[in-house]
Amino acid sequence: MSGLVLYNTRTRKKERFEPLETGRVGIYTCGPTVYSAQHIGNLRSQLIADLVRRAFDSEGYEVTHVINITDVGHLTDDADAGEDKLERAARETGRRATDIAAHYTEQWLTDRAKLGCLPPDVLCKATDHIGEQIEMLRLLEEKGYTYRIDDGIYFDTSKFPQYSDFARLDLAGQESGARIGDVAGKRNPPDFALWKFAAGGVKRQQEWDSPWGRGFPGWHLECSSMSLKYLGENFDVHTGGIDHVPVHHTNEIAQSECALGVHPWVRFWIHGEFLDFRGEKMAKSMGNVALLSDIEARGIPPLAFRYFFLQAHYRQQQTYTDDAMDAAATGYDRLVARAAEFRGAEGRVDEGKLEARREPFRAAIRDDLNAPQALAIATAVSRDGNLEPQERWKLIQEFDQILGLELENAVPRASMKEIDPRIDARVEQRQAARAAKDWATADRIRDELAAEGIVIEDGSDGVRWRRT
Ligand code: AMP
Ligand code: ZN
Repeated sequence: MSGLVLYNTRTRKKERFEPLETGRVGIYTCGPTVYSAQHIGNLRSQLIADLVRRAFDSEGYEVTHVINITDVGHLTDDADAGEDKLERAARETGRRATDIAAHYTEQWLTDRAKLGCLPPDVLCKATDHIGEQIEMLRLLEEKGYTYRIDDGIYFDTSKFPQYSDFARLDLAGQESGARIGDVAGKRNPPDFALWKFAAGGVKRQQEWDSPWGRGFPGWHLECSSMSLKYLGENFDVHTGGIDHVPVHHTNEIAQSECALGVHPWVRFWIHGEFLDFRGEKMAKSMGNVALLSDIEARGIPPLAFRYFFLQAHYRQQQTYTDDAMDAAATGYDRLVARAAEFRGAEGRVDEGKLEARREPFRAAIRDDLNAPQALAIATAVSRDGNLEPQERWKLIQEFDQILGLELENAVPRASMKEIDPRIDARVEQRQAARAAKDWATADRIRDELAAEGIVIEDGSDGVRWRRT
């Protein structure tokens, strides 16, 4: 029996996890829409999926983790009247949609790797699975769940009475809601597109033939059909951002349960809360985004962002500020520096002492993935004078299987600091000028150093410099 207790959105309760098949677990994570760079809010949702994956690994399951890449069909709004995000990016930049998708997929994979996220077992693109999506649509049509209007083939949500269950939707209150969109002919407000015809006969970069006409699949269909292909008709765990509950995941459930005749299609649904920034959810549409490269440009290692992420529970909103990030970077530096002190230590260990520290760490993770508590326990162990160096090292290595902070080989930033007395002296002169409110001299020194490719950073723990 598994020890993991997880909050399940489907039942709105914490439940002990039981797999469909002993010893195995299938996880599906909704991945990025690759029309632009993924911000650190999006990356938070990846880190949550990675934490889930690592928790199952550490419980001894054989995990199959599937993540999709959305490279077609995701519209600019949740109604079906918006523009395909990839086609819009192509129109605005004059680049090919496939090039844009390839570029941002690569960037996202690089960012994930920098954050220590384990590679998925299957990484699948929507455009590589058009046949599978057509096949699922055909099943839905056969069973009478679809109808055709000028704009495309739609799912008739009135034929699935449980439609509103998952998100506890108030459909009556939604009659005049936004989701009816501008699409003429929709029978019910929440009905959604399964296949869209190219609007107004305009030729798209990405379109395919289908039994219903030339066009492209609706966004939700990709997740239903790719999870079927890689995880089967039923699977254990589905993750995604909290924003997906009322529309995207509700629609995935409608498609899969109706096409496959299964319930529940997915046993456990895990949803991550948002990262907020400047008083709102971090979102490209609001213009309040930060990228991992922005953090790196401040001389902060990407894994410090993972440390920042671990400081909040995944079901809590987390607020990003430069100060909070600096504080997390300092915390991460300290932990790395301490790990470096006992790294590789060998000798006899007292298993009883180790188990006494292991137990609360395991309990924290098993209690709905309480990462902040697990991180606090790891920090306490790293400075626990009652443990021999080799005992600390053994525990930290074990804990890091879940924390993913690469404590086995991360280098403390302090020891990466370059030594150059001439630059140190210039930085000190700048500090003196600032103290004397001689801003002109301070700025001149900063500009001179910038011309040499040196940036000065005013951190909470003093001033440092580095080469760009
Ligand atoms: P997208 O590329 O827009 O499809 O988003 C990818 C994932 O990032 C989805 O699971 C979203 O729920 C999630 N997401 C978007 N914004 C945020 C945010 N500010 N904080 C956390 N997750 C987010
Ligand atoms: Zn999805």
